[in-house]
Amino acid sequence: MEIKYVTTTCPYCGAGCTFNLVVKDGKISGVQPCQRGPVNEGKLCPKGIFGWEFIVSEDRLKTPLIKDKATGEFKPATWDEALAVIAENFKKYSPEEIAVITSARCCNEDNYAMQKFARVVLKTPNVDHCARLCHAPTVAGLNMVFGSGASTNSFNDLAIADCVFIIGSNNFEAHPLAGRRIMQAKEKGAHIIVCDPRVTPTAKQAHLHIQHFPGTDIQLLNCLMKQIIERGWVDEEFVKNRTNGYEELKACVTQDKYSIENTSAVCGVPAEKIEQALEWLHECQHKTAFVHCLGITQHTVGVDNVRSIAFVQTLLGNIGKPGCGVNALRGQNNVQGSCDMGALPNVYAGYLKVTDPEAAKKVAAYWGVDEVPNGKLGLHIPEMLETFEEHPDKLKCLYLMGENPVMSDPNSKGVEKAMENCEFLVVQDIFETETTKYADVVLPGSCYAEEDGTQTNAERRVQRFRKAADAPGESKLDWEIMKMIAEKMGYGQYFPWETTEDVFNEMRGITPQYAGITYAKLEGDGIQWPCPTEDHPGTPILHIDKFAGMPDGKAKLEAIEHRAPAEVIDNDYPIWLTTGATIWHWPSGSMTRRCEQLDRDAPTAWLEMNPADAAKYNIADGEKVILYSRRGEVAVNTRVTPLIKEGVFFMPFHFTEARANLVTNTAYDPVSRTPEFKVCAVNVKKMEA
Ligand code: SF4
Repeated sequence: MEIKYVTTTCPYCGAGCTFNLVVKDGKISGVQPCQRGPVNEGKLCPKGIFGWEFIVSEDRLKTPLIKDKATGEFKPATWDEALAVIAENFKKYSPEEIAVITSARCCNEDNYAMQKFARVVLKTPNVDHCARLCHAPTVAGLNMVFGSGASTNSFNDLAIADCVFIIGSNNFEAHPLAGRRIMQAKEKGAHIIVCDPRVTPTAKQAHLHIQHFPGTDIQLLNCLMKQIIERGWVDEEFVKNRTNGYEELKACVTQDKYSIENTSAVCGVPAEKIEQALEWLHECQHKTAFVHCLGITQHTVGVDNVRSIAFVQTLLGNIGKPGCGVNALRGQNNVQGSCDMGALPNVYAGYLKVTDPEAAKKVAAYWGVDEVPNGKLGLHIPEMLETFEEHPDKLKCLYLMGENPVMSDPNSKGVEKAMENCEFLVVQDIFETETTKYADVVLPGSCYAEEDGTQTNAERRVQRFRKAADAPGESKLDWEIMKMIAEKMGYGQYFPWETTEDVFNEMRGITPQYAGITYAKLEGDGIQWPCPTEDHPGTPILHIDKFAGMPDGKAKLEAIEHRAPAEVIDNDYPIWLTTGATIWHWPSGSMTRRCEQLDRDAPTAWLEMNPADAAKYNIADGEKVILYSRRGEVAVNTRVTPLIKEGVFFMPFHFTEARANLVTNTAYDPVSRTPEFKVCAVNVKKMEA
């Protein structure tokens, strides 16, 4: 028997842990720790250890499938047949009638290839990916304040902080190896503060848990800023030399409504807890790191939530220093990289703006085409789905890679209608999913274990995937599939790549942050961008001397008022619902639910409710109930627990048999267009009713 160990990067969360895939006689059979992993130092969470089993699942797609229009059944097809159908149909639509959705699960090279395919072959501006559902508010918010949408610091900075202020992040479950860095800080005496409506495993580790109502983050953050200003704790030097807009911010946050007393009432938090948080922020000034995740971003005020966090850290002078910063724990493994690659409707690779004529000319010249879509923004995912649902005469065709919107987007019934309305749908994936059943053609792609490539984690660390085994059957690498379609449509000359490294090298020529990164340089611990030249070591901390992405090098402070969520509780829907992830599964469950151990540990969904609410509705622990909202309803078993605040329910979103997104709200942030998954109004009834 031949055994080999292939070092690669975890395909789940944005921590970016390194491990070895164990390959026996060409077949992947397990995972072993890799002590050299810069993030995880040989440790892994359950998804890292057990989450490999989907790779060898019998369910893997192995050939292209074409839907028989007469029967509605899929039939296996050759690549030639599938490409012919796709090319013929793609040519029918104008650029405005086509959209492309790519995936943060896929490597940088696949995302670069997909946005190039959209812009060069389909000539459409409508390209987006699943960062829209998670951290688009981080990108937009931090970009507005600091001129760069990326996390400012590294995971190592969490370990050396004297205070870690976690808000809207259950990192013990969603990013456990980033959470480990925070526990390292705790062991050496740091204060750990967690703001979360639930008593999560992360909150249980904290010295202080602020259990505020969903949707009240800005109220809380403005309250902290009011006190920081009025108690004279502002880093005057930093604010004077490195920011604009302080007076405007000050006038806003010092209003009476942001007093501790009023904030205590609005957020449902004892005043003493706010006082304690303030004391530690002051005690640990210049050594406090803020950490946030989807609890901050998945709101109609997601961008403003992120900006408010950035403002607190700016007032305290906690930017550009070790042990500080605004640290966004990116959801999917390659959310950072997919944004960097320009898989977005507002920017090309390297964040060149589509509204900047010079940027458009530069990209067109680099690719050797007359022009690329420019001038106006393409459609974001929620706008795509809305248009398919309500105006199918305007948007008719969708090319989707590695995404499962029927499971992962809010208001599943609306998404199903959108997919039904789509005139021609191509889905490229590794499994049949809830979305592939609406497709006209399904293409078998590859997973992280079957390709060489790169991904970029939440601390901007570019890391390698390495091929451990062949993809099953007739499956192909994702960028190879795009190249084949391009060739079939007469655009082959723009996709000259022979290897994944060729794609990377083309990409870094137009992406300044990656310009100095090569596959050879990635053989060690990876490189944190920006890395402008091949002799540059990378950049662990951003904004040390100035905010280079801002026109005058200064951070932009502004007035932001607290605003209620898009949907608030009332007599008909008197309970707040918040949704989230578990340690066992990853978003739509298409990979983790095919891993025996993970599925055994968390086999289905549950609805978390406080004993007081359970008593009010006469509901027992474990009883199956109907949870309903203005969008729909879902049957789910209860879990009655004091770990959730009274008046708030929680439901995980990974389970197709009990889809949380049947009830969630499609309302989205006006800037980032990220839906408000984290809060909507619901009610509950007993099954027999
Ligand atoms: Fe994978 Fe994230 Fe777990 Fe690390 S913490 S093993 S990257 S899921």
